[in-house]
Amino acid sequence: MNTNRKSSILIIYTGGTIGMKADAADLALKPFDFSQILEEVPELSKFAFKIDSYTFDPLIDSSDVEPTMWQKLACVIRDRHDRYDGFLVLHGTDTMSYSASALSFMLEGLDKPVIFTGSQLPIGVPRTDGKENLISAVEIASARTPDGEAAVPEVCIYFGSKLLRGNRTTKISAEQFDAFASPNLPALAEAGISIRYNQALIRRPDPGVPFHVDTRLDTRVSILKIHPGITPGVVRNILLGAETRAVIIETYGSGNAPTAPWFLDIVRRAKEMGKVLVNVTQCPSGCVNMNLYATGKPLLEAGTVSGYDSTTESALAKLFHLLGIYADNGRVEQLFDSDLKGEITK
Ligand code: ASP
Repeated sequence: MNTNRKSSILIIYTGGTIGMKADAADLALKPFDFSQILEEVPELSKFAFKIDSYTFDPLIDSSDVEPTMWQKLACVIRDRHDRYDGFLVLHGTDTMSYSASALSFMLEGLDKPVIFTGSQLPIGVPRTDGKENLISAVEIASARTPDGEAAVPEVCIYFGSKLLRGNRTTKISAEQFDAFASPNLPALAEAGISIRYNQALIRRPDPGVPFHVDTRLDTRVSILKIHPGITPGVVRNILLGAETRAVIIETYGSGNAPTAPWFLDIVRRAKEMGKVLVNVTQCPSGCVNMNLYATGKPLLEAGTVSGYDSTTESALAKLFHLLGIYADNGRVEQLFDSDLKGEITK
C-alpha cells in the first residue's frame, strides 16, 4: 500500500474507555476531552497526515448509544465526506459492533474508510491498548492503493492488531486486548511489522452508486433467545407484542428450535400478524440451515427467514435499516435475504 500521499483524516470522538480517566470523587471511569487524547499520543504528529477532530457532545459510554447517535454520526460523515480521505470513529467497545453494523448499512456507496476503534484500557494508562489501536487505525484510514484509491473503503473495526469488517464483528471479551472477533469472515488486514491487507476480501465501491446516507431507521425489532425451559408466556410476549414489526429468533446450532406445538403455534401466529421473523444462530460461528434437522424445518415452513451466518448485531442493524425504508414487510424479508454490505455469506 502507498501511504505517502498526504491524506486528511477526521477523528470523530464519541466517548468510550479510550478517552476516560478515573473520577477523583468516585473512581468511576468518565470521559475527558479530545485534546487530552492528543497529548497522550504525540506519535500522531509524526504522520504527514492532516488530522482534524470532531467531538460529540456529550461524550458517552457506548452502553448509552441510541440509534439517534448513529444518525448523527452518519450525518457528520456525510457533511464532511468531500473534505476528508478517511474517517476514524473513537467509540466505546460495548456497542461498537452494533454501531459499525448500523453505519455499514446507512452509508451507501461508501468510497472512503470509516474505521471504528477504541480500547480496553484508557489511553493515559501505561499499558493502554489505545495508542496502538489509534495509531494503526489512522494509518489504515489513510492508506491507498497504488492507483490512489482508498485501500479499505468500508466500515470496519480495528482492534487488537486486526482490521475486521464492522458488520461481521462481535465483542468477545470484557478484558482481553483482543476484544473483537469476526467469526465468519477472516480479517481484512493484520498489523505486524507492516500492515498486510487481504485484498481479495475488501469490498470496492460500486461506481453506479454515488455516496449518500440513508438515516431512516425503524427500531421496532426484538430478540428472542431460545433456551431450554423457555415458557409460552415469554415467547408470546416477544413474538406477538404489538410493539414489534420484526423479531430475531436466536436459535440453536444450524437454526434449530423446540418443536413443541405451542411454540410453533406462536411462531405461526406471529407470521399471520405479518411480522418479519429472522433466524440467527446462537453459535458464534457457522450458518443457519433450516433444512438440516427436523427441528429446523418447521421454522422454515412457518415463514422464518434465514439470517445465514449473520451476527445478531448485524441482523438487528439491517432490520432497523430496512424497516426504516420499507413499509412493506414482504419487501423487508426479500432484502434481508440478500447480501447488502458483505454482512452474510450466501
Ligand atoms: N463501557 C465502555 C464503553 O463501551 C467500555 C469500553 O469502551 O471499552 O463505552
